Amino acid sequence: MFRTGLSLRQCSIISISRALGFQRMLSTARLQGKVALITGAASGIGKETAAKFISNGARVVLTDIQQQLGQQIAKDLGPNASFLTCDVSREADISNAVDYAVSKYGRLDIMFNNAGVACQTPPSIVDLDLSTFDRVMSINVRGAVAGIKHASRIMIPNNSGSILCTASVTGLLGGMSQHTYSVSKFAIAGLVKTLASELCQHGVRINCISPFAMPTPLVMEELLRVYQGAGAKKIEQILHDSGALRGTNCEPSDIANAAVFLASDESKYVSGHNLVVDGGFTAFKTLGFPAPSQVQ
Ligand code: NAD
Repeated sequence: MFRTGLSLRQCSIISISRALGFQRMLSTARLQGKVALITGAASGIGKETAAKFISNGARVVLTDIQQQLGQQIAKDLGPNASFLTCDVSREADISNAVDYAVSKYGRLDIMFNNAGVACQTPPSIVDLDLSTFDRVMSINVRGAVAGIKHASRIMIPNNSGSILCTASVTGLLGGMSQHTYSVSKFAIAGLVKTLASELCQHGVRINCISPFAMPTPLVMEELLRVYQGAGAKKIEQILHDSGALRGTNCEPSDIANAAVFLASDESKYVSGHNLVVDGGFTAFKTLGFPAPSQVQ
């Protein structure tokens, strides 16, 4: 019996469970010591990923054009988060954000090019407004190219780093969204493959994630316009019903989990990959034949 009043057996149980708890804590810190920069981090997928990166031990620079919201989110996330205003269509902003991350934390290990916009072009190519096309490309594609360029200028000399981009299922199959948005997401998957060929030679990995649809502001604003009169709840239901995997829905946390994997050393030999998070949606298409009982 010790002075605490606990028996030897009780003490051993306590120390074993403390050790297990500590081990569990270490094993959840999959990004310990790493520094990440995320674009479009004031909302949806970017915001969720910032929280998940931090809970896995990373220090994160959140960037977005929504300054007030971004600052508040970074404050809520605690001392390992900071916010910087960055419009990805302006190369100088991206360059500045990368330099800020390096000067604040001394390194950059993870660059997540996530910012994106949807667009309101009419469905036919005949009516396409090319200035809208240019605007979407300047954010969704040129913004990602600028992010890759400036992250690479830090990562290549270090012979290490993980670059991620948010693509989409609309960049895997035609006919799932307006041409402009879809083209921008096909471009992301292409960018990742072509840039992997250069970056692999320097030990830098680059991958993208292709999410299925989920009710973030980007999608909700678009669908509330399309289904005028329908409420947010109804639109969320339409989105969820369009998924293939029953019993669950696609959520920002599913994408954040994929991002943690691709950002961490668990994926140290994965590069040039498009990680599709769509509950099987793009893997198959049923023929739609009637059941035998329905055919006389
Ligand atoms: P969201 O609207 O919640 O977040 C997008 C963020 O990007 C916003 O905070 C917005 O302020 C920011 N942003 C917009 N323009 C910017 C710019 N020029 N510079 C910097 N930031 C800018 O939407 P989300 O769904 O989280 O979108 C994140 C990414 O996921 C986008 O690239 C989107 O195309 C992609 N995506 C979304 C879905 C979906 O269903 N929600 C599916 C597939 C892919």
